Amino acid sequence: MKFSTKAIHAGQEPDPSTGAVMTPVFLTSTYVQEELGKNKGYEYSRVSNPTRTALEKNIAALENGAEGLAFASGMAAIDAIFRLLAPGDHIIVTNNVYGGTYRIAKTVLENFGLQFDFVATTAMENVVLARKPNTKMIFVETPTNPTMEISDLAAIAKFARAHHLISVVDNTFATPFLQRPLEFGIDAVVHSVTKYLNGHSDMIGGIVVTSRVEIVEKLRFSQKAVGGVMSPFDAWLCLRGIKTLAVRMKQHCESAMHIADWLSRRKKIVKVNYPGLKNHPQHALAKKQMGGFGGMISFDVGSLANAKKFLKRVRLCALAESLGGVETLISHPATMTHASVPKADRKKNGVTDGLVRISVGIEDIEDIIADLEQALNAI
Ligand SMILES: *Cc1c(COP(=O)(O)O)cnc(C)c1O
Repeated sequence: MKFSTKAIHAGQEPDPSTGAVMTPVFLTSTYVQEELGKNKGYEYSRVSNPTRTALEKNIAALENGAEGLAFASGMAAIDAIFRLLAPGDHIIVTNNVYGGTYRIAKTVLENFGLQFDFVATTAMENVVLARKPNTKMIFVETPTNPTMEISDLAAIAKFARAHHLISVVDNTFATPFLQRPLEFGIDAVVHSVTKYLNGHSDMIGGIVVTSRVEIVEKLRFSQKAVGGVMSPFDAWLCLRGIKTLAVRMKQHCESAMHIADWLSRRKKIVKVNYPGLKNHPQHALAKKQMGGFGGMISFDVGSLANAKKFLKRVRLCALAESLGGVETLISHPATMTHASVPKADRKKNGVTDGLVRISVGIEDIEDIIADLEQALNAI
């Protein structure tokens, strides 16, 4: 089956008891057992639930992986991934990761003995230099948030294999429609399904997809032992959202390309970061490993004062954290998503005070541009 067909059908069959075409929301905590040790595959919904199973199978199929494991949030999924390791282990992480990933590493997991180094994984020499005898994992985000830098998935997978590291990619920004890291030899993919996969800004969830049996076993145990799992209703909402993933992503890509191009011709804008622009430093790599350039753009309006004026004026573009919904969202990384990253680190990573991030929605492009234009006039 091809991508759009899988998005609509994988993991889902008409309900055998009623013929309902849509997978029901199985709002049940427990399941009756026929006799001791005999059940229909479900015992207790912290361990597994049929609506959640349908979503796990669906996203696993989209990523071309063996199994999916759905968590209550992207952060819960990332936490479970890091807890595959033990105190004393070292992890190499992309420098410009999602702010929450940085926060859980620095303020939670370091207290439990995990060690993190944040490096620019865009250049393999930085990765090679960062490896220590106790390095056990490499965690990469590509494109990065919010500067849209691209790391080489094939090179990272090869490096990880050679040194027996678990390689993980946060594929939230690209989605499996545009990029499937497992096909490059990456061990596990993680998503905040809150974003593009669900696509309608109405639930929070995370997933890990992997074909590595030992990772599946550990994460299934984590779901059962820790319990940070996705609710059946959220799983159902996400299944519903994914049915239109392919058509949404095509429109996000088309509109974002158009807006990035428009922004780069505005005099008040210092810099535009979008992998689809020819002047993007990793444009060629993005073209090679992605099926499109996505819906996320960041651009620098020069200063915090300008960013404030601009963001106060936008009307259609909603000033909000998050991304990946059908509606256009706009945010200010330095004070919003990346506020927990120290200012010096932010600066080093290109998260300047004038940087604005836009998650281009699928409204009519003329309306989005008109809104950006009138807001830019405030500067
Ligand atoms: C939002 C996000 C997360 C965290 O996911 P939640 O669902 O909000 O917990 C992780 N990584 C990336 C890239 C994100 O955008």
